[in-house]
Amino acid sequence: MVKVKRQIVPANIAKNVTYADKNPVNYITVHQTGNPGKGANAKAHAKLQSNGNSRAASWHYTVDDKEAYQSFEDTAQCWHCSDGQGPGNTQSIGVEICINSDGDYKKAVANGAKLVKQLLDKHNLSIDRVKQHHDWYPKNCPAQIRAGKDGITWSDFINMVKGVKVSKPKKTQTGSEQITKPKANLSVDGKWGDSTTLALQKALGTPQDGIISKQPRNSATQSLYGNTVQFGNGGSNVIVALQKKIGAGTDGKLGPGTIRSLQKYLGTPVDGVLSRPSIVVKEMQRRLNAGTF
Ligand SMILES: [Zn+2]
Repeated sequence: MVKVKRQIVPANIAKNVTYADKNPVNYITVHQTGNPGKGANAKAHAKLQSNGNSRAASWHYTVDDKEAYQSFEDTAQCWHCSDGQGPGNTQSIGVEICINSDGDYKKAVANGAKLVKQLLDKHNLSIDRVKQHHDWYPKNCPAQIRAGKDGITWSDFINMVKGVKVSKPKKTQTGSEQITKPKANLSVDGKWGDSTTLALQKALGTPQDGIISKQPRNSATQSLYGNTVQFGNGGSNVIVALQKKIGAGTDGKLGPGTIRSLQKYLGTPVDGVLSRPSIVVKEMQRRLNAGTF
C-alpha cells in the first residue's frame, strides 16, 4: 500500500488545465516525469500542479520512492496524453512516476506499481486497462520503463502490478523451491557417468545410487561412462523421472528418442545421438550444478 497524500489543485487553477469534471475511469495511464533533477519528487510535482503548471498539462497522481500525491480527483478529466481527444485523456487516470536522481528508482517504480494496483481495485478494472502514455500517443513515455532501465521492463512492471495481490504466497513458494533444489558439483565435461547419474537422481528425487539399471544395449546407453549403466530388462526409475520431466515416453529406457527429447528440452542440437563427450550432457551438468535442471 502506497500512502497517498491529497493536495488537490484549487478550482481556479484547475479550470485552466482540466477539461471537465467528468472522467469515466476506464484506464490507468502510466508516465514517467522525464525530470531526473534532484528533488524532482512527488511532493515537488504536486506543488508544481498546485501553483499552476505553465505547461497546461495535468495528471492525477505523482509517485516517488517514498510516497504518492494526488493532485486531482479521479473524476476530473486531466490532460496528460498529448492528444486531447483520446481515451488517455478522457477516460483514464494519469500516474506519473518520478525519476529524480536523489530517489531510489526501483523503489519509485515499485511504488508506482502498487499505486496502479490500488487504483485498479478502486475502480474495479482489470490488468489490461493499464496503459502507457505511448499506447495513446507516439511519445516515448514512460521512457525509462520502456527502455528497461535497471532491468525493469514494461512486462516486469505489469507483473509487479499483478504481483501486489498474489506476491506473498508466490514468493514463499519460489523461495522454498530454491532452497530445496539440490546443487551438484559436477565437472562439466559432457561425460555421463556415475556422478552425473547421482546428481540427476538427487535432482529428480529418485533413489540415489549412481546406477541406471535394467537398460537395453543401444547407441545411447553404450555411450555412458564408468559403471553407471546396468544392462537388463525393465527400465530405471531415474530415466522414468527424467522422461516425465522432459516430455518423453516414460518406459524407463534410455535411447535415441529420450536423448532427442533431452536435447530439445535443454536447447542443444537435436540428433538423438549421445556423443562421447556430449554437448547435451554438458548442458545437463551445468544445470544440475546450478540447481536449475
Ligand atoms: Zn507521459
